[in-house]
Amino acid sequence: MRVSILGATGSIGQSTIDLIRRQPERHDVVALTGGRNIAQLVRDARALKAQVAVTCYPGLYADLKAALSGTGIEAAAGPEALIEAAARPADWIMSAIVGAAGLAPGMAALGQGTTLALANKETLVCAGPLVMRTAKAAGATLLPVDSEHSAVFQALVGEDIGAVEKVIITASGGAFRDRPLGQLSGVTVAEASAHPNWDMGQRITIDSASMFNKALELIETREFFGVAPEQIEAVIHPESLVHALVQFRDGGLMAHLGAPDMRHAIGYALNWPERAHLPVPRVNLAEVGALTFRAPDEARYPALRLAREVMAAGGLAGAAFNAAKEVALDAFIAGRIRFTDMAPVVERTLTQMSSGDGLENAPLSLDKVLQIDALARVRAKEAIGTLMEPS
Ligand code: NDP
Ligand code: MG
Repeated sequence: MRVSILGATGSIGQSTIDLIRRQPERHDVVALTGGRNIAQLVRDARALKAQVAVTCYPGLYADLKAALSGTGIEAAAGPEALIEAAARPADWIMSAIVGAAGLAPGMAALGQGTTLALANKETLVCAGPLVMRTAKAAGATLLPVDSEHSAVFQALVGEDIGAVEKVIITASGGAFRDRPLGQLSGVTVAEASAHPNWDMGQRITIDSASMFNKALELIETREFFGVAPEQIEAVIHPESLVHALVQFRDGGLMAHLGAPDMRHAIGYALNWPERAHLPVPRVNLAEVGALTFRAPDEARYPALRLAREVMAAGGLAGAAFNAAKEVALDAFIAGRIRFTDMAPVVERTLTQMSSGDGLENAPLSLDKVLQIDALARVRAKEAIGTLMEPS
């Protein structure tokens, strides 16, 4: 089958390539996209004999073009080129760009009625109803790749969504789950970038420590499965072996377990509806011994409360929430704000925008979502400015 990978040079992109390279005869690679990592993009484009390699940065076009010269592989650069690559006919497309930057290429991929494996959770957070509508109209298939959502999807095979009482997604609790609350304001970027269980890109790793990742995933659950916000729960599970549970109205719980290796969820989406042999570690429950769970403490993780408010508001609140979170995360990584300042920046942005910027009940279009995304970035930067003023 023809496959494309958006965000090929990232953590999810590389895991996807690992699986594809194990069965080269099964896959014809159409497009690979990346950002700054031109060397990796070129290596993979050559090895997989891609049709086209794209970097999102126009300034890197000359480097990419030079590195691909004589290979017959096309080179392209810039946001428009990403969208063009996503729209090239392919049977399976991995959406693994990080952030809201993945939305427009993902929509272009869906528009061609393909199967879209969705790792980029921001797509559903920013524009859930629009994405689901577009997929339906184009006859596209959307498969979740986020491990929790893949787990829920698998637990629902053959089940009636109407019989679902609750969807429970697990959270490791991130780098600071056992850190005394009073110390959180002083944590460093390096500490926040070290995940206890999963090996992921830096941004999602820091989002796991703050639980903004779980906040995005609560919203993603609502949008993907169409369940009501009050039916969705997050529970801390430090072992990261149970990825999600679905509770049915007869009281039964279906849990999905597996090693914390994203190649399971990626491989499930790649082979769906079949199951293929996958090179992931096997879980030995007797060796594991105990699985533990506890309720998340909202004082430690204010992002979870914000996610509830975003789900209640609906409309464009998700787009504003995500954009503000991205700006706050950038500021934390750059050392401009503290770890514990991220949630107040996002909260302030949402408050500012709900009084005047028309988040609720606005009709959802891609342009409108991108407009709110841009506006929320401005508001979040203002919020950071306010926060840094000497009081
Ligand atoms: P990475 O940061 O490792 O990779 C991101 C990819 O996107 C890279 O290919 C990067 O290029 C590219 N990229 C960065 N900025 C832009 C941009 N502005 N426009 C286009 N492309 C860009 O991220 P992850 O692989 O960790 O995550 C990807 C997505 O999957 C995220 O939405 C994340 O939340 C989600 N996800 C990730 C999981 C994981 O285990 N990593 C688990 C579940 C979900 P380059 O590196 O060349 O600059
Ligand atoms: Mg996840």
